[in-house]
Amino acid sequence: MPKADAPNGKGSPMGLGGPARLPKVAVIGRKKSGKTSLVEALLRELRRRGHRPAAVKHIAEKGFSIDRAGTDTWRHSEAGAEISMAASEGQTAIILNRELDIASLEALASAIGADSMVLEGFSAKVLEDEGVGKIICAARAEDAEYYSARAKGKVIGVYSPGPGSADALNGLVEGAIAFISGERARLAARAMLPGLDCGRCEWGSCDRMARAISEGMAGAGDCEVIRSKPSLRAEIIVGGAEVPIQRFASEIIRASVLGMVSKLKGVSIRGDESIRIEVIGRGRAASG
Ligand code: SF4
Repeated sequence: MPKADAPNGKGSPMGLGGPARLPKVAVIGRKKSGKTSLVEALLRELRRRGHRPAAVKHIAEKGFSIDRAGTDTWRHSEAGAEISMAASEGQTAIILNRELDIASLEALASAIGADSMVLEGFSAKVLEDEGVGKIICAARAEDAEYYSARAKGKVIGVYSPGPGSADALNGLVEGAIAFISGERARLAARAMLPGLDCGRCEWGSCDRMARAISEGMAGAGDCEVIRSKPSLRAEIIVGGAEVPIQRFASEIIRASVLGMVSKLKGVSIRGDESIRIEVIGRGRAASG
């Protein structure tokens, strides 16, 4: 029985999840609506242009396994392997005997070397996710309306398979690749920002600022926290004496501590606060 991953990967024994790493496009729609043909065309074009996409297919069937009863890998899983792998000269199959959410699948794909993700299905999850570009496959107008009305974030387009739909398919592939390029720029910009969501810039949040940077409407220097950095520093005192640290190390420690503290319930961080953390050890108890 597959074990469910923790929501958004936090607390997962594999340590997966965390912030988004890869641009993601999902191809959604009902059965036999042309999803796989569209995914195939998109993967081929991404590959042709030098991208390294990961493809993930959602299987709704309860109890599904890609493994077959009686094979060696199946026997390994039955005997309790958390991960069962089969390695041959040209392919490696990894069967993880638990369910993963999209954030964890993304982290796994990123760790293995993918630079983008193409999801087939997962409509219940991705319709709500503004960070995922969506292509809706719909043979009937009411299906297109159903998915469009519920989709948050970018809908790249609607595909209706049939005679004369090849041009539409090519246009959607181009649209998906443009979305992936834009997302890559946005994620790179997001990685430059402190992630404190302090609301002090005109964009109000790090995500919105990252989008503005990726669209050429802002620069990282517009972040108030980055702007005030030169006057900020972290100080480490051990046993009453300050430990000399380089500016770069000081900034890493300062940003990490602010990042951790900003995640605590009820704490709002601007980025220029003084924070004092004291680790109380036996030395102080003895002397104090
Ligand atoms: S000022 Fe910087 S840290 Fe604060 S919300 Fe804007 S981009 Fe994020």
